[in-house]
Amino acid sequence: MRCEVLAVGTELLLGQIVDTNSTWIGEQLAAAGIDSYEHRQVGDNRERLAHALRDMLAGADAVIVCGGLGPTPDDLTRDALADVMGVGLVRRPDLVEHIAAMFSSRDRAMPENNLRQADVPDGAAVLPNPVGTAPGLAAPLGDKVVYAVPGVPYEMRAMITDHVLPALLERSGERFAIVSRTVKTWGTSESGLAATIAHRVDAQSNPTIAFLARGIEGLCVRVTAKASDEAEATALVDAEERELRAILGELVFGVDDETMESAVIDRLRDRGWTIGVAESLTGGLVGARLAAVPGASAVYRGGVVAYSTDVKRDLLGVQAPQVVSGDAAMQLADGGATCSVPTSVSRSRVWPGPTNRTVSPWERCGSA
Ligand code: ATP
Ligand code: MG
Repeated sequence: MRCEVLAVGTELLLGQIVDTNSTWIGEQLAAAGIDSYEHRQVGDNRERLAHALRDMLAGADAVIVCGGLGPTPDDLTRDALADVMGVGLVRRPDLVEHIAAMFSSRDRAMPENNLRQADVPDGAAVLPNPVGTAPGLAAPLGDKVVYAVPGVPYEMRAMITDHVLPALLERSGERFAIVSRTVKTWGTSESGLAATIAHRVDAQSNPTIAFLARGIEGLCVRVTAKASDEAEATALVDAEERELRAILGELVFGVDDETMESAVIDRLRDRGWTIGVAESLTGGLVGARLAAVPGASAVYRGGVVAYSTDVKRDLLGVQAPQVVSGDAAMQLADGGATCSVPTSVSRSRVWPGPTNRTVSPWERCGSA
């Protein structure tokens, strides 16, 4: 089974948005064991869209088109698809009803334009869109198929996961389950990580192992197993995760949706500890990441962003001559753990408000 990806939208070509949809779809296809040899982008132009579709279909079993299903005149995917199929568009009353219901549930009047989204190339099937107005399409072309999904990322993802991937697997005749897990690490370089687990990677067949550098999210090792059912695939992934953890030790801070900040919050909660942060050039980023974790309030007390040198000195007692240094960082942490606004600091210099109260983010914060 070979499935290509065609992303539609002039804004992609102009560099106004990044084609994250194709990347995500590529990842899903790979995880499902479906080959994908070509990803293309095309602008909002009916002829060029139809041309790209014909061209890509020539070498593949299926093409996923994303974007251009909206209600505006530059949304041309359904028209181009009808051209390729050699058919016209038919207006589907059930879709008219669905679109009208979406608008009335939001208490909004439906612009006439939106009915374009109820037009379907004759002979194409509709993929439901429970989270938006634009339905997807599944268009048979001989023994091949084109799936059209919306460009809006969360609508696209729901439709690919719920309808397109199962349909592709069904067509491929292969019945198996795919389970993936991402083991996240911090504290080594990509080449260091690769060298450490080279013998696992060399030995891989099922599960497969891939590296992904995810910037602030760390270096990730993605383990993907294929088996006749989900339990068997999960067992293969579990075993590989155990091997990797045994080799990588403390470099591993979490898996899948766990982030560095959620891991920190979880470990603090397990110990009954709280945390405060004193930060400088990160400008509040560390505190913001901690505060964004659900349930952070049980653990995260607050933060001081001491950005300029005089605030670091006056508010947090940093003495080190170099304010960007290990010593200064230690003093920032000490100052943060015990800080209160000294009377010598004019409150209006630090934070606006009434002037005669001492404020400590960590008052009674215990073991911050
Ligand atoms: P709509 O009903 O919103 O018009 P649509 O199916 O016509 O949906 P587009 O108009 O192509 O989709 O895109 C809608 C929005 O979805 C874009 O403005 C963009 O934010 C996002 N989007 C579209 N294509 C991509 C893509 N390939 N990668 C990432 N985001 C995308
Ligand atoms: Mg659109």
